[in-house]
Amino acid sequence: MTVEDVLREIKGKIRGIIPPSIDVTEVEFEGALLVIYTTTPDKFADSKDLIKQMAKMLQKRIVVRPDPSVLTDIEIAEKKIRKIVPEEADITNIYFQPDTGEVTIEAMKPGAAIGKEGQLLNEIRKTINWSPSIIRAPPIQSKTVQEVRGYLRSMSDERKEILRKIGRKLHRGVSDNEKFIRMTALGGFREVGRSCSMLHTQDSKILIDCGIDVSSDNNGSPYIHLPEVLPLETIDAVVITHAHLDHCGLVPLLYKYGYDGPVYCTPPTRDLMTLLQMDYLKVAAADGKKVPYSSENIRNVIKHCITMGYGDTTDITPDIRLTFHNAGHILGSSIAHFHVGEGLYNIAFSGDIKYERTWLFNPAVNHFPRIEAMVVESTYGGRDDYQPSRKEATERLKDVIQCAMKKKGKVLIPVFAVGRSQEVMIVIENLVKNKEIPTIPVYLDGMIWEATAIHTAYPEYLNNKLRNQIFQQGENPLLSEIFKRVDSVEMREKIIAEEDPCVVLATSGMMNGGPVMEYFKEWSQDKKNTMVFVGYQAEGTLGRKIQRGNKEIPINISGNIVNLKINMEIETCDGFSGHSDRRQLLSFINNMSPHPERIIFGHGEESKCLDISSTVHKKFNTNTAAPMNLETIRFL
Ligand SMILES: [Zn+2]
Ligand SMILES: [Zn+2]
Repeated sequence: MTVEDVLREIKGKIRGIIPPSIDVTEVEFEGALLVIYTTTPDKFADSKDLIKQMAKMLQKRIVVRPDPSVLTDIEIAEKKIRKIVPEEADITNIYFQPDTGEVTIEAMKPGAAIGKEGQLLNEIRKTINWSPSIIRAPPIQSKTVQEVRGYLRSMSDERKEILRKIGRKLHRGVSDNEKFIRMTALGGFREVGRSCSMLHTQDSKILIDCGIDVSSDNNGSPYIHLPEVLPLETIDAVVITHAHLDHCGLVPLLYKYGYDGPVYCTPPTRDLMTLLQMDYLKVAAADGKKVPYSSENIRNVIKHCITMGYGDTTDITPDIRLTFHNAGHILGSSIAHFHVGEGLYNIAFSGDIKYERTWLFNPAVNHFPRIEAMVVESTYGGRDDYQPSRKEATERLKDVIQCAMKKKGKVLIPVFAVGRSQEVMIVIENLVKNKEIPTIPVYLDGMIWEATAIHTAYPEYLNNKLRNQIFQQGENPLLSEIFKRVDSVEMREKIIAEEDPCVVLATSGMMNGGPVMEYFKEWSQDKKNTMVFVGYQAEGTLGRKIQRGNKEIPINISGNIVNLKINMEIETCDGFSGHSDRRQLLSFINNMSPHPERIIFGHGEESKCLDISSTVHKKFNTNTAAPMNLETIRFL
């Protein structure tokens, strides 16, 4: 049966159960959704049971959309919305999405815009025929979020075409071929960087992550040129666990070389990934490195993103269903769970996981309806990889800042823009609020502000406590007045020259460039000042050399190599990591439900992958492996 036949049959069935007064103009697959277009959307809205009934009968996720012919012209529709919604709701933005017939109204007081029992919402729908949704306006605007949304809006016709194409491919039906399930390690196994795996069945080819090893001198890309991967058009879907470049840095390259399918990820991953990929291009160009792809390729990724929240399930190929679960690592980070065949096999890829409640996120999920195999990260899987708790880390940071303040010195903290900086911000805000350290200005330099803005745009991805604090008490610690954005070279120079003590959080986290260098050059000679490392310093980076205690560092100052003397205090605060340490990895596995038959380890140095693989095998009597890149494991 062709997809056309399937759609015709579905249309017949729908006609059979809906009353004649409801009009259906078109039925289409858009991605995994079955979309029904109607000129009478309000009648559908009035009979909610009807959609449930159809979803049950057809075993599909159904969306009803207004036929484009009945949508009120955008300019007039906007005027009507502003007339219906009372002024006190304080509308900050209205976005129309012509591809879906949806309109998103952003307001400071969403309750006032929705009205009693959704009364105003219904009125809007009936007046303009667009499907309205109301969201709380983010407290600080993220340029990235706005640009991504704006871009998708401007591409709405093309986007619809893309979704239809994906939908048709996805509903091609399963084959009668012999069944098999296997995975191939394409990158990031027995190493950290360039994470990439292929999940392969008789009917599907899926890439999970496609990262780049940014520390590599030659291209640092995974083995995506293998014969079983190529041509890239044969890949059905790309699934991204989170926005760090070692997991998504090369996704744009796939589009450059012919891939044109979907990228599945959470909404914050899409936005953070765009920010980090754009920054990667900028930094690579500034360093005179070869740039592997263009910003056009990044836009191609955005256009093909299908986002889903935690717990949402969707068909991504005829025989694979995907669900994302919280991974606790960074904003939007997820464990990707794949259900293969109808109950045939279940395998999950952990991405990077944190199995501890952090200041920002809930611990990684380890309960699944079913799971036979799991691929788990091993960054801190080595025998001695134990990290202090969040509490101990906080105490330590407090002591370091107190000491520096007593000396009237400045504190410089090199950080990664995404994840660690927001966590350190919350800790500092807490210390100030509890008067454990004096109220001092905390300057944020580099991409930190923008990454923070993306965090505030997605509060539902933060942990329960923080979410409550933000929603119930209206207190967002990330927006505290102590934080000041450094937004110009002049401001930076002023801060550098300032007499009074302060704290500066600046990128890059391993001191291979970025604004942190400007502060470091000026402050490193004075022993009153302190530098605190809160993140992992990779071998070969300047950060690692300083952390090790080098007292003289050759550095490039306006084209001349100068030997910089380091007199400032150098401290390290472990315990802020977004990765599980060995204890947490073992308890993540121990508490898994159900317990998988097989566990595959990757994303760690060779010795760590091998070590944790053998420990877990002995401790839990589980079949484990730590494959090398290019190895394939067959599950069925
Ligand atoms: Zn990561
Ligand atoms: Zn990683």
